[in-house]
Amino acid sequence: MKTHLIKDLTVAEICDGFVYNELEGKGLFGLGGKLTIQPEYQRNYIYADAGGKKEQAVISSLLKKYPLGLIYFNKVDENKFEVLDGQQRITSIGRFVTNKFSIMDNGNPKYFDSLPADQRAIILDSTLLIYVCEGVETEIKEWFETINTAGVEINPQERLNAFYSGPFVTLAKAEFSNSQNANIQKWSAYVKGSANRQDFLERALDWVSKGKIADYMSRHRKDDNINELKNYFNSVIDWVSSVFIDVENEMCGLEWGRLYETYHTTAYNPAEVSTKVQALYADPYVRNKKGIFEYVLGGSQSPNLLDVRVFDEATKRTVYTVQTKKAQAKGVSNCPLCASGPEANKHKIWKLAEMDADHVTAWSKGGGTNIKNCQMLCKTHNRAKGNR
Ligand SMILES: [Zn+2]
Repeated sequence: MKTHLIKDLTVAEICDGFVYNELEGKGLFGLGGKLTIQPEYQRNYIYADAGGKKEQAVISSLLKKYPLGLIYFNKVDENKFEVLDGQQRITSIGRFVTNKFSIMDNGNPKYFDSLPADQRAIILDSTLLIYVCEGVETEIKEWFETINTAGVEINPQERLNAFYSGPFVTLAKAEFSNSQNANIQKWSAYVKGSANRQDFLERALDWVSKGKIADYMSRHRKDDNINELKNYFNSVIDWVSSVFIDVENEMCGLEWGRLYETYHTTAYNPAEVSTKVQALYADPYVRNKKGIFEYVLGGSQSPNLLDVRVFDEATKRTVYTVQTKKAQAKGVSNCPLCASGPEANKHKIWKLAEMDADHVTAWSKGGGTNIKNCQMLCKTHNRAKGNR
């Protein structure tokens, strides 16, 4: 890989012909059309996130004549360059000089056009330190990974997009990484994260590939369509939203891909499902609300998904004391199942630590977690009962 350093390119030159695409969340071109700011393997513009603190910091640095750090260009042709590293900084500058955001000046928002002439000149005349490199694709991408690992955090999906860049990633990003996509609001009920950080794309790939994202991206890298990816994702979302007619906060981020695979061939009555879900939401014994959906899908068979409230230590101790006194008076074991069974433990008095609390009437059959419904069983019997 060949490299050389350029010290005299100004902000004015770099921002010549700057275009920002709101739809894709990308800075596109500069340097009078010779520079591609956002090659397809780059991630989306994220400096405007979180109130735009990062993009404003870039502009204050220029005004204070602080260095912005090294920027790397990849020379792809005699007169064509791509930004390899520095795309967030360049897009911030380009967006500012085209009046896309303002900075605070003594408590007042100022757009580029409303700055005094001397300040505008400071910005436009600033020079950037640019390393230009030439090399083959694999070399460049390996290097891109290296500098990004050292600098601003890049997440696993962004890294995979860079690694498997091509027509498939371009189409997939246009669908799943576009914050203007009208479907995002609907998806956000079930999938956590943001389009810009590739969270929807990652989930879509995770679901269709059953967790083998890299493998899937590698096999489909040259595809000129994303039909399978899109259809599968939409099938999952449509299935969830038709089985569960209410949208609850706890639904966001569940493993819907796995649940779809397991349950989508089972028929459900959405009104009945809704009644069950609401009842479980209202049940004070249910501690894990996220588990409600899988519990209902599975036919209410696995209460362990709900983390039903357990008896507290004071209750256990009280029940143990009463139960043990009665058992000693009768000369039988203080575990009622040992006492009535044929085993050698018929007369054994267990210690508190050797016993567990049990719901006499199971929670799933309406039994509460209160002292009246509590009995102590030896650990073996409690485990046996729990497994039934
Ligand atoms: Zn027992």
